[in-house]
Amino acid sequence: MGVRENYLEVLNKKNQAALRAGRNPEDITLMAVTKLHTVDEINEAIDAGATDIGENKVQELLSKYEDVKPVRWHLIGHLQTNKVKQIIDKVVMIHSVDSLHLAEEINKRAGNAGLVMDILIEINVGEEETKTGIQAEELMDLAKEITDTCENVRLRGVMCIPPYGEDPEVSRKYFRETRELFEKLQQLGLPEDRALIDTLSMGMSGDYETAVEEGSTIVRVGSAIFGKRNYR
Ligand SMILES: *Cc1c(COP(=O)(O)O)cnc(C)c1O
Repeated sequence: MGVRENYLEVLNKKNQAALRAGRNPEDITLMAVTKLHTVDEINEAIDAGATDIGENKVQELLSKYEDVKPVRWHLIGHLQTNKVKQIIDKVVMIHSVDSLHLAEEINKRAGNAGLVMDILIEINVGEEETKTGIQAEELMDLAKEITDTCENVRLRGVMCIPPYGEDPEVSRKYFRETRELFEKLQQLGLPEDRALIDTLSMGMSGDYETAVEEGSTIVRVGSAIFGKRNYR
């Protein structure tokens, strides 16, 4: 199957999962994760209807940016502070904020560019040593600090990548945990001009339907749309 067929199939499954959970399918965005895929493949997904795409790495995003059709770009991988300025005017959201330091750099660069950047805080929900993201216990403090100090940043919610596994039912408990944190964040009473907590970024190729059942508002799907990635 080609990218178009895959994209439409994932879209349909995402929508069916929403309906099963009594949710409005339109409340969940399908993001196509395009790392290690070509500009032609990405444009094929856009032709099939993709509105949002996600890249992990700044360099790779920049190398494709000019040749990809108009679309909403998201940065979903670990972001080094010294690269923020290169993408600040190219992405609509940064999903991987894991320190006040990074938020402050985003704030500074957004200010220089005359914009307000939407961000998510990444939670290392499986407490894995190899993964980036903050510990769950740190979330409320970091959210307060960011909204206290960063006037050019708008906190939109949280993102998680559960420990890798073949069984989506294993992801479910991590998704629930992340959803609970998301709801706590909504109750925290953060300043309204700096926080609009409406985005829960979770679910990948193997578990996006489960993520939708557990409240995700944006699923990040790569290989189910584009096929296996060729790591070189
Ligand atoms: C690669 C990646 C995805 C997509 O993974 P698939 O399993 O191919 O769907 C989603 N989120 C992040 C942060 C990724 O790096």
